[in-house]
Amino acid sequence: MEDCLFCKIIAGEIPSSKVYEDDDILAFRDIEPQAPVHAVIIPKTHIASANEITAENSGLIAGIFEKIPVIARELGVADSGYRIVNNCGADAGQTVKHIHFHLLGGTTGGKLY
Ligand code: 5GP
Ligand code: ZN
Repeated sequence: MEDCLFCKIIAGEIPSSKVYEDDDILAFRDIEPQAPVHAVIIPKTHIASANEITAENSGLIAGIFEKIPVIARELGVADSGYRIVNNCGADAGQTVKHIHFHLLGGTTGGKLY
């Protein structure tokens, strides 16, 4: 997808600090971390937002959730705890229009909701 920042990261055109990669998924450290541990997990297929999840591509999203425990363990927060956050659309503050899940760990202080 032209002009998509995360597609450029997948293609290696923009460097990133990778924490996990396989044929379908890439996870890398957020450039502006909002928690002591902050990774962004993306499918390698361009899906613009949660609004674009369909029966055809939902397996990619399921695949991300299957790998979240692996990534959390790699980042050292599997046992201490973490949040998975998806921002969809303007009101939620989505800035990159390639679906992604924030993995946020290393914080304490309870729930956000
Ligand atoms: P959103 O605001 O769309 O939920 O999340 C986009 C995230 O991508 C933000 O947390 C932002 O800091 C991160 N980000 C934006 N540009 C880059 C970049 O070039 N490299 C990395 N690693 N993260 C980025
Ligand atoms: Zn993209």
